[in-house]
Amino acid sequence: MQSISFSNFATLLNNLKNTYHIFTPVKKGDQRFYKTYADFTDDIVIGEVRPVEPLKSFFSRAREIVARGFKPDIPHSQDKPFCIVGVKACDLKSFKVQDYVFKNHDYPDPFYIKTREDTLIISADCTLAIDTCFCLAAGIKPYPQEDFDINLSFLESGFTIECGSAKGQTIIKKYSSLFEEAQENKITNRNKQRNRVIKKVEENIKEHDTPYQDLFKNIIERNYESSIWDDQAKTCVECGACTAICPTCHCFLLYDQSNKKNMARLRAWDSCMIKDYARVAGGANPRPKLWMRLRNRFEKKFDFFPKVADVYACTGCGRCISTCPAKIDIRKVLKKLVENA
Ligand code: SF4
Ligand code: SF4
Repeated sequence: MQSISFSNFATLLNNLKNTYHIFTPVKKGDQRFYKTYADFTDDIVIGEVRPVEPLKSFFSRAREIVARGFKPDIPHSQDKPFCIVGVKACDLKSFKVQDYVFKNHDYPDPFYIKTREDTLIISADCTLAIDTCFCLAAGIKPYPQEDFDINLSFLESGFTIECGSAKGQTIIKKYSSLFEEAQENKITNRNKQRNRVIKKVEENIKEHDTPYQDLFKNIIERNYESSIWDDQAKTCVECGACTAICPTCHCFLLYDQSNKKNMARLRAWDSCMIKDYARVAGGANPRPKLWMRLRNRFEKKFDFFPKVADVYACTGCGRCISTCPAKIDIRKVLKKLVENA
């Protein structure tokens, strides 16, 4: 295993800047947000915990033009490929769902595939857990184990490095003078830190009585006609924030816009929580009630995806918990579903 000092890592990013549009998480107040990297400033937080924005924002934009003038082959608007730094394990897990939808299914999306292929992922271990984190219950450790190019584990004097792909290997080789062999004590410290964060997430899970995913089998089927859905949907204001912020949610809407000269087809994120989402021509709606749409959201995550892609479409990132203005807590809903199953 190798390691890199903070100053050498800054040099690495300054070099990669020539090839990539780099995003690093920065801290504002008690939240973290991705920002275009210019210099290695003090507000950059590589460790800590996941940023507010889900990773999907880089791979399918909230709104984008997908065809212009009936020609589907428009180039993507970004000038350079992305390099996303500090990606956390929970967000990496969302690739399992997003790849199934946009890459490995009936209608592959060329925009998504190109961005996936071109993007360099420099992930990072979580060095803390916030109250809403429950990744372990979703079967994910709070440090990346797959789907990254290079992984960083934050230590006092720099990072230990793991390489996860040929792309990562090429970069480590090209800038080999910036890296050194990791000393044994650094690896020991990294492992201690990982265990400390695991313990904190375990405490969260215990405190909120969150069920582990081993208990999710058939919870939707068994609760399909339950009053849980209606009870839980009572405070929902149908804002769609829970789906927009979720790294695994992926539904979109296609629509056309034109002016006198041009016509464009746009794609925008959509939300299954919104009444008109499933409405068809003629006005019929298979999910006219809010509780039906809440049930559908859970059904997709905990019944459909495990059946078709062998993965629960929840990574335990906790974003929907912090975002929901109605204070609907997915951990509490899951607990009720498990208890009632
Ligand atoms: S459902 Fe909530 S906790 Fe699960 S991945 Fe989506 S935003 Fe995160
Ligand atoms: S964020 Fe909360 S209030 Fe908004 S649609 Fe989702 S469950 Fe309803």
